[in-house]
Amino acid sequence: MSERSGPTQTALPPVGIAALQVAAAEPAPRVALKVTALIGLASRPGVRYIGSRLVPDVPGGTRLPKPHVLIAGGGIGGLVTALTLHQIGVPFTVLESVAELRPLGVGINLQPNAVRELYDLQIGAAELDRVGIPAREWALVGRNGNDIYAEVRGLEAGYRWPQYAVHRGRFHMLLVDKLIERAGPEVIRLGSRVTGYRRQQDGSVTATVQRADGSGESLRADILVAADGIHSAIRAQMHPDQAPIHWGGAIMWRGTTLARPIRTGSSFVGLGTHRQRMVIYPISPPDPRTGLAMINWIAEITVDNSEGWRNSGWFRPAQVVDFIHHFADWTYDWLDVPDLLRRADVVYENPMIDRDPVPTWRDGNVLLLGDAAHAMYPTGSNGASQAIVDARELGAMLVRHGVGEAALEAFDAKLCGPISEVILRNRGAGPFGLLNLVDARCGGTFERIDDVVPQAERIEFMARYKAAAGFAMERLNAAGPTIAPGARVGEAVDA
Ligand SMILES: Cc1cc2nc3c(=O)[nH]c(=O)nc-3n(C[C@H](O)[C@H](O)[C@H](O)COP(=O)(O)OP(=O)(O)OC[C@H]3O[C@@H](n4cnc5c(N)ncnc54)[C@H](O)[C@@H]3O)c2cc1C
Repeated sequence: MSERSGPTQTALPPVGIAALQVAAAEPAPRVALKVTALIGLASRPGVRYIGSRLVPDVPGGTRLPKPHVLIAGGGIGGLVTALTLHQIGVPFTVLESVAELRPLGVGINLQPNAVRELYDLQIGAAELDRVGIPAREWALVGRNGNDIYAEVRGLEAGYRWPQYAVHRGRFHMLLVDKLIERAGPEVIRLGSRVTGYRRQQDGSVTATVQRADGSGESLRADILVAADGIHSAIRAQMHPDQAPIHWGGAIMWRGTTLARPIRTGSSFVGLGTHRQRMVIYPISPPDPRTGLAMINWIAEITVDNSEGWRNSGWFRPAQVVDFIHHFADWTYDWLDVPDLLRRADVVYENPMIDRDPVPTWRDGNVLLLGDAAHAMYPTGSNGASQAIVDARELGAMLVRHGVGEAALEAFDAKLCGPISEVILRNRGAGPFGLLNLVDARCGGTFERIDDVVPQAERIEFMARYKAAAGFAMERLNAAGPTIAPGARVGEAVDA
């Protein structure tokens, strides 16, 4: 068979199927966290069972039925890409390195522009309410407990879509459940680490895959989407001279504690100075019996970074005793920080790291997406949101240009420049930059914020950030859907 003609596809009953249990490590009330993924395995020499089709091996790797998109990474970006491809009718396979998907992480924010895309994927309020809570306020408070800035968020602010604060792991499992329910378990191959790629002369691309059992394989498709996170192997190959991970000296300890929510009951609060702060927000509604909600917190300090990040890992379990002394006297009549930290359920240490922007996210038919493209400081709460928006923009480009390089080129031209600017803006503290301003003008101690940074200046500062990050309200509310309802690849509908 020539490389161009594509494989003969013969539907056979699945042979050699292994059932992988994807079980939750943590108890997660009200969310179905048990998923069974059926992964196709080799059934005959020279022939590999993939999904529901049998295809022969060819030089350059096993050619997946045309058209086909390979997605490296089954995190938030990879799964929303998969759900989008399913919606617009493009066959795909997700290759995920871990052998078991678990509800990992703590709180993340889904900005209204990302929630809109989830709604367009028929993942609505009922589902999101099971993994988080609509955010109602965003506030900055000085170390002395005085307000610096507060604004209403979500529907109450006038957005057509809410902002959600969710448990990352539970949201991730929701996406897994939705994908398996809609596209079947065979679209996710666990224990499959993509180690690199080769672009082929016929316009296809081969991904080299290392399996959890030590074996390897090569899979060939039309497009490879790298959604493999901040340590992306594909990005490392695409940009071999990229700078090492960038660390500006901030260390975050992240955790969750069952506690009474403060302010509106669903407020995001940044408290302190830019060198030492707490970020606190609930990711569940309060239990009606106890009044306690799951509160996500980030305790952050800035240290000398001249010797670089020396601890191993970037999201490792930690102990409260390692850092509670930095916040020992942070007690107010509305909040007791040491108590919140002491009663934590889980704690992770996490350096605030990102990557320098690169000039392009594309190499022919290989595309970087999500953190692989634009890992950024979490100061703007938009890393996960941007990964979701990326996935939808890619879907829109595929509808417009078909499954090929033109779609990736259009995606890169639209997003790489502007989102790279957001990376740099977040390095300058993102919306927390207001704390820097207060610090520069009065050392962080003030009685009346208007005497330090006038209200108009504060509002202008926040408006600039939201416009850059794509969730300025008027613009978002007025924009048409990223992917028109019912649009399918090959049946383009004007968005
Ligand atoms: C376990 C985990 C916990 C996290 N917890 C938090 C949190 O609490 N708060 C927060 O703000 N952010 C957290 N993040 C980061 C956050 O999810 C991302 O910044 C954001 O959602 C963008 O998503 P992404 O899909 O681009 O990357 P990620 O969410 O990082 O997903 C990347 C996926 O690719 C897989 N992968 C990596 N390398 C390969 C490879 N070579 N081949 C195949 N698959 C590969 C990874 O296992 C992962 O599933 C966490 C990420 C992970 C992986």
